[in-house]
Amino acid sequence: MTVRDVRIFGDPVLTSRADEVVDFDESLATLVDDMFDTMEDAGGVGLAANQVGVLRRVFVFDCSHVDGGLRGHVVNPVWEPIGEETQTGKEGCLSIPDVSAETTRYETVKLSGRDKDGNPIGLVASGLLSRCIQHETDHLDGVLFLKRLDPAERKAAMGVIRASDWFNK
Ligand SMILES: [Zn+2]
Repeated sequence: MTVRDVRIFGDPVLTSRADEVVDFDESLATLVDDMFDTMEDAGGVGLAANQVGVLRRVFVFDCSHVDGGLRGHVVNPVWEPIGEETQTGKEGCLSIPDVSAETTRYETVKLSGRDKDGNPIGLVASGLLSRCIQHETDHLDGVLFLKRLDPAERKAAMGVIRASDWFNK
């Protein structure tokens, strides 16, 4: 078990686009294992590779505390909305400690991608898992959830960040 360091807001790796995975090799399997350990250690619902400083398109998720919730990983994720219904709720990020803000996401999405062995996977998700898929895929594109906030929420979130101990260290 290896818990890797979680990169924090301000680290350029968080605003960099991760590369498509081409080699489904041993290092990818190790990365996925370590990301599960890191997510569990941090008590998160999801974790993207950028957050451990690796620019490969993979994320892990754990919604198993929700009824019928899934735990898993996806490589080279692509999602599309199913319908136009949205959900608005509190969202946070392991890379932005102490900040949570009302964030609007699609209610239901269809996810496709690969597993760590290169096999195609797909699923339809609603609620928390759908929110997680959108948040983590954003990470792989170098986008933080702050960008998804309306201006007033973003301003409040930036205020919390600027006042936080971790930001001023
Ligand atoms: Zn995040």
